[in-house]
Formats: sequence, C-alpha cells, structure tokens
Amino acid sequence: MKSKEIREEFLRFFESKGHLRLGSASLIPDDPTVLLTIAGMVPFKRYFLGETPPARRITTAQKCVRTPDIERVGYTRRHLTFFEMLGNFSFGDYFKREAISWSWEFLTGILKLPKERLWITVYKDDEETISIWEKEIGIPVDRIVRMGEEDNFWAMGPVGPCGPCSEVIFDLGPEFGCGKPDCRIGCDCDRYLEVWNLVFTEFNREESGELSPLPRKNIDTGMGLERASFVVQGVGSVFETDLFQPIIEYLEEITDKRYKEDKEITYNFNVIADHSRAITFLIGDGVIPSNEGRGYVLRRILRRAVRYGVKLGLNSSFLYKVVPLVIFLMKDAYPELEKEEELIVNIVKREEENFLSTLQRGLDRLEDIISKEGYVSGEEAFRLYDTYGFPLELTVEIAREKDVAVDTEGFNQMMEESRERARASRKKVFLTATREDLITNFTGYSTLEGEGEVIYLTKEDNPVEELNIGEQGELVTDITPFYAESGGQLADRGVIISDNARINVIDVQKRGNAIYHKVEVIEGKISLGDRVYLKVDRDRRNALARAHTGTHLLHSVLRKNLGEVVKQAGSLVDTDLLRFDFVYFEEITPDIRNSLEHEINRYITEDLPVKVEELPLEEAIKSGAIALFGEKYGENVRVISIDLISRELCGGTHVKRTGEIGVFIIKDIYSIGTGTKRVEALVGEKALEFIQEERSMIEEIAHILKSNTGEIIPSIKKREEELDSLRKYIQKTEELLAGLLAERLVGDRITLDGIDIVGSLLGDFSVEFLRTIGDKVKEHLPNSVILLGTRDGERLKLVLMVSKELVKRGLKAGELIKEVSKLFNGSGGGREELAQGGGKLITSFDNGIKRLKEIIEEKLRG
Ligand SMILES: [Zn+2]
Ligand SMILES: [Zn+2]
Repeated sequence: MKSKEIREEFLRFFESKGHLRLGSASLIPDDPTVLLTIAGMVPFKRYFLGETPPARRITTAQKCVRTPDIERVGYTRRHLTFFEMLGNFSFGDYFKREAISWSWEFLTGILKLPKERLWITVYKDDEETISIWEKEIGIPVDRIVRMGEEDNFWAMGPVGPCGPCSEVIFDLGPEFGCGKPDCRIGCDCDRYLEVWNLVFTEFNREESGELSPLPRKNIDTGMGLERASFVVQGVGSVFETDLFQPIIEYLEEITDKRYKEDKEITYNFNVIADHSRAITFLIGDGVIPSNEGRGYVLRRILRRAVRYGVKLGLNSSFLYKVVPLVIFLMKDAYPELEKEEELIVNIVKREEENFLSTLQRGLDRLEDIISKEGYVSGEEAFRLYDTYGFPLELTVEIAREKDVAVDTEGFNQMMEESRERARASRKKVFLTATREDLITNFTGYSTLEGEGEVIYLTKEDNPVEELNIGEQGELVTDITPFYAESGGQLADRGVIISDNARINVIDVQKRGNAIYHKVEVIEGKISLGDRVYLKVDRDRRNALARAHTGTHLLHSVLRKNLGEVVKQAGSLVDTDLLRFDFVYFEEITPDIRNSLEHEINRYITEDLPVKVEELPLEEAIKSGAIALFGEKYGENVRVISIDLISRELCGGTHVKRTGEIGVFIIKDIYSIGTGTKRVEALVGEKALEFIQEERSMIEEIAHILKSNTGEIIPSIKKREEELDSLRKYIQKTEELLAGLLAERLVGDRITLDGIDIVGSLLGDFSVEFLRTIGDKVKEHLPNSVILLGTRDGERLKLVLMVSKELVKRGLKAGELIKEVSKLFNGSGGGREELAQGGGKLITSFDNGIKRLKEIIEEKLRG
C-alpha cells in the first residue's frame, strides 16, 4: 500500500465513523505559547480547553515539525524532524472503547498488519483500558505491557487536562534490535516501533495535585504516516518508504554516490531527505530564516542540510533543487505548497548561497589568521563560530593540518559567556495554566473604560482570594476594555480602581477565552468578587493605534509599489513606533524609501476614514482583504479598511481617520536574513522627536567641525584628505624607525654557537610593527632568533622569529614561544619561522631573553 493510500484510507475510515475531515492546520500554531505545530492536537488545544469545536468528532492528517531529536535523525530508522500525524479526535463524545477498537480495526483490517506482531502498552493503573484490550479485542495478556507515568501518562501542563495513554507497538523483529539481553518494549533501539498513540484525556489536575474527573472526556490520537508506511511497506526504515525514496534517488543522481554504499553515506542522505521536507513545509507556511524563534529553527535545519551536502561533496547550492521534488511528492495532500513553490525555491536558494559563501568567507578568514598570526586565539575561534557558522571541530581540524594551535579553552569560555548572556535576556514565558471556564467580554474596541467584577486572582501563578498592597499577580474580570497583546500590537496599560484599592495594569495577555491583567496593587487590597472600574491609559492606546494604522498603510504601499510578492513576515506595533518584516528579494534604495514615505504621508494628509467591519472569513477574503498565515476559518473576522487603499483582516485597535497619525517617518530599512527586510518607522510624537534629534546631531557635528550645517560634507572630505596624507607620513616614519631600531638591536645581540640571539622590549607598538623590525634584523643576521615584546596595558605581547637556516637545526618558533611565554604566565604558539604569544610582565624581559638562550642551548645539545 502506498503512503498516499494509507493517508486517504485513514481519513476515509474515520469519516465512515462519523468524523469531520479537516485539512492540516499551519505549522505556525495559533497559540503564542507554542513555537511550531508538533502534534495533531495542537490546532485543537482550544477545543480541549472548552471552546466549541465545529464537530464533536474530527479527523486530520496534520503536518508537524519537531526538533529535539534532530541529532538522531538519519541515524535511527524512525526519527524525523518533519512528519505527518494521522489523528482522530473526540471532544466530549466517544471515549476509550471506540478509540481502541477502531485503532485495532484500522491496523489489522485495513492496513492488514499481522496481529501477532502487535504489542500494546498501557498506563499501569488504567484497568479499564487493560480490560478493553484483553477482554474485548482479545489481546493475550502477556502482550499488554504496563508502563509508568513517564511513558504513558499525558498532561498539557503541571495543572489542567491530563490522562493515561495506550500505545500500539509493532515488533519489527530481532534483526532490527540492539541484541542486548534486556531488549524489550521501551528499549531505545528500533525494534519495537510505536505506531499509534491513543490519549484518553479524562482528568483535570488541580492546583493541589489531585486528579478530578473532567466533565467532558476527550480522545486525542496520533499515528505517524511515515512509521505506518514503514511497517506496511515492509522496508528497512522510514527513509526507504515511497515518501523518501524519490528524494534519495535524486540525491544519488547529483552526488554520484549510492544509498547504502556505506553507513556514513546512508546517514547523510537520510538527513538531507528529512531536512528538505521540513524546510519546504516551514517556508510554505510562512516561516522565514532568521536568528530568532521559528525562523531560527528553520535556519538551523537548512544549514545542517547544507553541511551534510558538503560532506557528500556538494559544494554549490543544491537544496533548492530538491524543493520542487518535495512539492511534487506532497502537493496532492498539501495543495498550498504548489502556490508558494517559486517563493520557497527562492528563499532556500538565497539562504543556501549565503550560508555557503559565509562558510567560504570563514575559511578565508581562518587561512588568513593561520598565516598571519600562526595561532588561533579563543576569541578568533569564537568569532568564526558566531559569525561564520564554523563549528570548533572544523577550526581545529583545519588548524591541525597547518600545524597551528587553537585556544579551545578560550573558545569554551567565550561560548559559556555568550550562553549566559542569552539566558539572561530570555523572556519569561507565561507558564500559568489556562482556566478553561473563565470568560472575559472585551469592550475595548468601542470604549476605554468601564465596570467589571473580579472573577479570578493569582499570586506567583497560584489562585488566591485577595491581593494586598505591593503585591503582583494576575487579575481577570468578566468585562474589560484592556486590549491583550496580539497580532504584533502590544498590550494596553492603565489602572483598575475599586472602593478599597488602586491597581496598576502592567501587561495584558489573552489565554483561552479570558483576558489576564498582570497587575500590581498600589493602594489597599483587592478581593475576588470586588466590583472594579477599569481605565485604559488613553495616551498609550492612541499611540498604539497611530502605529497600527500606520502599519496597515505601510503594508499596502509596499505591496502597491514593490508588487504583490511582498509578504508580511512579522510586525511589532509599539507606541508611535512600528517594525514591519516582509519577504522581498530586491534592494530597497534610498529613492524608493523616500517615495514610499511620501505616499504614506500623502494618505495621512488626505485624512482618510478608517472603517471596521465584522464578516465571516470566507466573505472577507472574497472581498479582497489580505489575510495572514494561520487564521482560523469558519469564524467572524474583523476587516479594517482605509478608504480604497488598504483592506486587512485585523484584531487590533486603530485610529478613526488617518490624519490622527500625524506624520510617518521611515527610520531604517535593512535586511534581517535571506530575502527578508525590516522597516522601522515612527509616527506621531516619536516621528517629530526623531527629526529634531537628527537636526541637533547635524548641528553638533557642524560645531565639532567648526563649519556651518550646510558645509559639513566638504569639511569632512577635506579632513579625510588630511588624514590620508598623515597616514602615509606615519608609514614612512615607521619604516625608518624600524630600520634604526633593527640596527640598534643587531648591535646588542648575543652570539651562541653561531646563532645570533636578539631580544628587546620595545615601547607600545603593534605586533605588525614588531614583525617589520624582526624582518629587518633578519636581513642583517641570516642565522638569528629574535624575541620582541610590546606592552598593551597590563598585557605583554610577544613575537618570536627564527630564520630559515636555524629551523633546519631544529629550532622552531612555535616551540620556543611556548616555553618563553610560560615564564610570563601566558601561552603562545605558531609556525616554524614565526610565532606569537602573550602574558604578563611578572618578571623582567631580560629574564625572558635569558630563558630563550637556555632553551636554545638545551635544544642544540639535545
Ligand atoms: Zn533494544
Ligand atoms: Zn493590523
């Protein structure tokens, strides 16, 4: 049976059991707490939390991406980053009995898997499930394995819905196993393959840890299509199924290597085959490579695929050629891919080329460091890693070929520091469980204040009866005018007042059906059930609205001038400040920027009306509104239109007429990754402040240059010319000085067994200058060892040179510097003729020369 048929048979089977078949949701979940859709249930989380689903029984084939096991992908027969999860869901409808018997019916009746190779795992205390499998399905009791909470108990979070699971396992046979005597269900090897997981969500875990039965029990199941195809098609791994084989055959063609030729090649092929699917689907759903969030997940996967390609000898871009093949294989089930093919290919190609040239530039830089410095410092190794994507192992490998040392300890230290910084800057994630029964009525589109009742209070994430002065927590009311952060627009702030208390609202978030105000009590205390008066900070709201309507104007003007190819990739709406990311491959010149700005400001001065409508989604899209990725369907949506210029689905808050925006200034446009541009713009007061600051800066520059503001540029050009001639003068002087110093050093030399030893601590010069002096000394003394030092603050920097003739006698600069640096409590390394080191001047430099002389004597004797 082909994988295509398995997918279709599955959906048809559950349709015949009364399920509504829905298309796959986007890989970008409609849920700010989750980065990517990692399972079939993710799009339905809100139904599990109490929202009403379109049907009580639903079935889907859901695209998923997971990366925690990325290192294992390709090594094992079963791990993938991208996969399709076939699932059937019940929202308060059927429960264990039906879920179990239908899974059995599908596996043995439709997929015709041999019953004697199927095993069942259950949660150890779930007697009901055990009894269904044993008594009703007829599974021999010795093939039902009881597992603990870690393996077979599912929970959405520390509190909230949870329940036991039961898995169907396929025994691939001993030849797939690890061969260890204790290899059994649960072993980490490939033998016992989990094909289907049934989750029975029947409990709610209370704050106290107690489990209480849910009023509506849910079913959530998942079967990986790739694993199902693996067992049904009787092949050696998921990669040998018809889902991957065409990709692997293509890779064989372009690499001229055979799959299974050896282990390493098979592994490399598997990684690329998997990653190319993940990349195609992620970009197809609107993820753009970047350095944060899901964009970073994509970038990592893509770069990994490129590196594995390089290992296979593919040194120019190739991944973008795999994309059309992936789309061809998947387009029947995921027609959205075909529409985005050109875009996906373009993005992959650019990112791939960028990464390859980054790798090349890193390589050039490394070669440069090796030949110039003869030593790779921890700082340099880290820069190679950080800027050029060079793994430390690669740096060490290349350096070793040239017999050059790398300061790996220094690298590790910098790595640790950078991790620390990342940790410190990471935002605190909202982990609080969502109370499914809480509902807030939002009134903030039409009013900025109003009354409400406190229906929920928390302190340090725990529910409380009251909050006292000075305390922080979360507060939910039945009605609120406060806008929760969403769609890029930041949350409102303001105050909540009761008879007994005054409270500041610091942040506002929406979870489930409720709006959570993050608050701090300034006066008195607030209790559950209190009547309160909620008041949004009007100035802030107005500044947010100016920026939001400005964002819509920008979006439509970009599309109008640069083409419909402009795709929004993200946006931030702050007070009088906005950031807008979009996909666009061409350069945006200052001329284009100016004309964009012009047009937007024209719409502002025309003072156009901003209209809000509520429409069903289908109708809204038909009317030409721009919809973004990941919108829910079958619901009413808000459409914001600005005259005939812009029409967009949007839940944000806006000004009533464009004139309120005041002025729109593009502060900057720059690239934030392959084909992605970012516009930073200011409106209202911040735009004015910006213009004033720029003017002051120009005045200040004129003052420093002692010129008029109108003559800044000629004045700077004149200074540049003066600097140039000064630089030339310095160069000549240095040249002369180096000659003089060299002559003096030659005069002071010590001679030992035909070897001239020259050493001196010079003022604070650059290391390059020391080398120039050294070269001049060598011209006079063809058999010399030269040790020169310079001070850089506390640090002592050393250069050691050995003339070619002496290298033949066994004296190597790299070895000598290591010994000498030790004396100064430092380290060093390098090549035969030139090495560098450093340390601190804890003893006199003359002692360093003395030590050098001793080492040379030892070497010559040895
Ligand atoms: Zn095993
Ligand atoms: Zn909007």
